[in-house]
Amino acid sequence: MVDVLVIGSGGAGMVAALSAKESGADVAVVSKSYPTRSQTCMAQGGINAAIGEDDSVQAHIDDTLKSSQGLGDASAIKKLCEEGVDAVAWLDKIGVPFSRSAECKVAQRRLGGASASRACYAQDYTGLKILHSLYDNCLKEQITFYNEYFLLELLSEGEGDEKRVCGAIFKEIKSGELKSIYAKSVILATGGYSRVYGHHSTNATGSTGDGIAVALRAGVVLSDMEFVQFHPTGLKNASILISESARGAGGYLLNGHGERFTDELQPRDALSRAIDEEISKSGAVFLDIRHLGENFIDHELPQERKLAKLYENVDPVSDIMPIKPVAHYTMGGIAVDARAESSLRGLFAVGECANHNVHGANRLGGNSLLELVVFGKEAGDSAAQYAQNVADITTSSAEQALKDTLEEIKSYTNEIDFYQKREALGELFYKSAGIKRNEKALLSALEQVKAMQHELPKMGVRDQSEVYNTNLLEFLEFQNLLALAEVMLVSMLERKESRGAHAREDMPQRDDQHYSGHTNALLHHQNVRVSFGYKGAQS
Ligand SMILES: Cc1cc2nc3c(=O)[nH]c(=O)nc-3n(C[C@H](O)[C@H](O)[C@H](O)COP(=O)(O)OP(=O)(O)OC[C@H]3O[C@@H](n4cnc5c(N)ncnc54)[C@H](O)[C@@H]3O)c2cc1C
Repeated sequence: MVDVLVIGSGGAGMVAALSAKESGADVAVVSKSYPTRSQTCMAQGGINAAIGEDDSVQAHIDDTLKSSQGLGDASAIKKLCEEGVDAVAWLDKIGVPFSRSAECKVAQRRLGGASASRACYAQDYTGLKILHSLYDNCLKEQITFYNEYFLLELLSEGEGDEKRVCGAIFKEIKSGELKSIYAKSVILATGGYSRVYGHHSTNATGSTGDGIAVALRAGVVLSDMEFVQFHPTGLKNASILISESARGAGGYLLNGHGERFTDELQPRDALSRAIDEEISKSGAVFLDIRHLGENFIDHELPQERKLAKLYENVDPVSDIMPIKPVAHYTMGGIAVDARAESSLRGLFAVGECANHNVHGANRLGGNSLLELVVFGKEAGDSAAQYAQNVADITTSSAEQALKDTLEEIKSYTNEIDFYQKREALGELFYKSAGIKRNEKALLSALEQVKAMQHELPKMGVRDQSEVYNTNLLEFLEFQNLLALAEVMLVSMLERKESRGAHAREDMPQRDDQHYSGHTNALLHHQNVRVSFGYKGAQS
């Protein structure tokens, strides 16, 4: 048994692990991939901190509150922005090789919705450098890692208000065996759920919201699941992200007639809608950074150039890049309090799988990496404190029941190819629950999602083996996506207004009188129930 079990080895999980260790806890980190391959390595643009001479913590707070469109929590945002300064200093200290200005200060660039150049960066490899530095430090601290362990369910003991988490069950991918890990506290850091949009997403294929779906099944409250950020500039065919840093550096957006048509640095929700409309009108939108010159591009944006060449066969030094808005970041997730604890005792959550109420209806670029550090520290410390006061666990293992469930999946009839259904789910969400939504399309999507859920026993897996059965894992991920798809659609239907990333064509106004609270979702007798709860800060 460990004191603190961290599930997920992205930026959030590793910061939480380091923090729990520093607070004196015995820590283990488990994930379905390898730490250096977690999605955090894809972050390019930077991490926000008001350290520039022309910036202030108050300006950072104001920008974040404004962007959250009334759904951000003022005290959580204050904490995020105030501690941002120390967070970047800490990353610098533990070895993140930030790019430097001529004066040798940490270099900063301006991202959309920011009133100053605030995003600290390491070329356009910011997430990768942060992730690798965190992993180095975890190894130095001798934190135990269990890699390629797939989370199946949480373990808990007690009933009602006494119920508390006491570990989790995993499938070890290499052997196919089930492994229970008992723990006094658990931190979920399993990332977001943007892959519900299939290939219309910038995210890693593993961003299937597993931890959120597992929490939902364990009776935990989720919140704001309707809010999904679309990034304005995904490459048109591959949906690979071209970072906001390209526009921050002076990149233009051109329509199908080669004309600029909008403010390139407005917040992502508004810009995505402007691009979507322009694509409908003039047939295409392009990102143009040719005027920045080859030297600048190779020095500041080397990854963007490589990605554009590799995935869209265009060289941004000489060509304009065809783009479209794509699903990028999920603002909703496991509802947590100021100490990062969920509605289940001893279960903490952090990073993209959690909702710390700092992004509200629209996240600012650079604030997610910052959230991982600020709230990762909080989650690690809280979980370690909690573990100090917990008696030993007495629950019996739930492995046999899970073994039976997995065996049952292997006996599903396989008449329907679930990969085709997964593709169809992505198309459905992009079309009906994407940048623009309306009741009719959402209701029809909900019906189709429920039909897919009923068809699951006609799907199933072809690979019956135990060892490295990725077919089975992808099926489990698809089941998780379908569970969250239902929660998202019900939440989108319940929020009968437009706010930030949630744009209802049939209800285009923001309605503070009825919808200034967060949606809270949970399973009640296997049905999704959504209600409106806590009200965010008004702005
Ligand atoms: C292309 C791209 C660029 C971005 N650029 C920026 C940027 O410049 N600035 C910024 O602030 N934000 C950026 N973001 C957002 C930011 O990178 C993410 O929100 C953040 O990295 C998420 O970190 P995380 O630790 O919560 O999750 P992740 O890094 O996604 O890690 C999740 C972990 O959970 C594990 N896991 C998941 N499911 C299971 C399971 N069933 N069992 C076991 N383990 C599991 C995974 O293996 C992984 O280790 C970007 C995102 C993308 C996709």
